[in-house]
Amino acid sequence: MYTDFQKFLTDELNAIKEAGLYKEERIITTPQKAAIKVASGQEVINFCANNYLGLSDNKELIKAAKEALDTHGYGMSSVRFICGTQDLHKKLEAKIAEFFGTEDTILYAACFDANGGVFEPLLNEQDAIISDALNHASIIDGVRLCKAKRYRYANADMNELEECLKLAQAQRHRIIVTDGVFSMDGNVAPLDKIYELANKYNAMVMVDESHSAGVVGATGRGVTELHNLRGKIEIITGTLGKAFGGAIGGFTTGKKEIIAMLRQRSRPYLFSNSIPPMVAGAAIRMFDMMAETNALQDKLHANTDYFIKKMVEAGFDIKPTQSAICAVMLYDAKLSQQMADRLLQEGIYVVGFYYPVVPKDQARIRVQISAGHEKEHLDKCIAAFVKVGKELGVLK
Ligand SMILES: *Cc1c(COP(=O)(O)O)cnc(C)c1O
Repeated sequence: MYTDFQKFLTDELNAIKEAGLYKEERIITTPQKAAIKVASGQEVINFCANNYLGLSDNKELIKAAKEALDTHGYGMSSVRFICGTQDLHKKLEAKIAEFFGTEDTILYAACFDANGGVFEPLLNEQDAIISDALNHASIIDGVRLCKAKRYRYANADMNELEECLKLAQAQRHRIIVTDGVFSMDGNVAPLDKIYELANKYNAMVMVDESHSAGVVGATGRGVTELHNLRGKIEIITGTLGKAFGGAIGGFTTGKKEIIAMLRQRSRPYLFSNSIPPMVAGAAIRMFDMMAETNALQDKLHANTDYFIKKMVEAGFDIKPTQSAICAVMLYDAKLSQQMADRLLQEGIYVVGFYYPVVPKDQARIRVQISAGHEKEHLDKCIAAFVKVGKELGVLK
């Protein structure tokens, strides 16, 4: 009988609404890109997609996807190891390994699955996982599915990490796990220091490059490029759903024995469908583009530098960032919502974040810069921030 449970859910949902935490979806009626239309017909400039390289509506990728539809069909109707592996999947895995300078790659339906399926096949109760407190939800869930002993250190706190590593000497194998870029501040993991500590305490390292791949490092090869650690990290996970075209798909890339074991035992790989051929075909084309030119990464870096410089000059309080995520600090939760609403009226689509998504009294507006933005988009955004900032007393 549903009656009791229905009442329970209705009450819970109302409580979420009363707390002002109810998430509504905003309907977009155009492709994902810098300037989008929402269902009301309003055109807005988009600063809240993970479309860092502006590839979500890229003509070349759409063409490659259509070609793959024609040559390889629509869907696989199988997991990889039964009859769900085409030449396209193998080719894409090789391209990803080439991009990151790793030995081998395994594809998943999403990075959520890559992270969910990486720990349990490799580690058990004799081992230790040492995890940054701000790691992505999918890493937290993946760790929960594994019997290894868990240690947690405060975000990027190398003293706490070292304490964890000392304690974890009691275990057989150790792995340090970190996001490459933390999505709320845009700060980059101190992978150079993490790597040093890993060597000192005989630990492996895993980095999730979801927000950093395509973005961080001179050629967008991620945090391992930024810290000169290409090929040295045991495990990298990432997504095809952000900078890399934004469709769907995730991967784990790294040491070949690790990837081989994941193909044998990783549950989201063994029990979930292959990515569609058109996504694999377009992603192959995308990595070919990355190998041919650095133009998009260069444009993204120039856009980000320009935006931050202008915003700081205007008097905004910006969190230090080494990514394309720019947190405009407002501290007050209500103000962050008011400001985001006013900016939307001005045609600038950004999102305000507040507790519990970020710590109490750390409310902010997160702006995500893209290579798809032209200078006029950035200038309009900055002008709107200044106008609304003055109106709401954020700027003098
Ligand atoms: C977005 C994100 C994921 C999830 O990626 P999907 O491919 O969308 O499942 C995992 N980890 C991090 C750090 C992310 O930012």
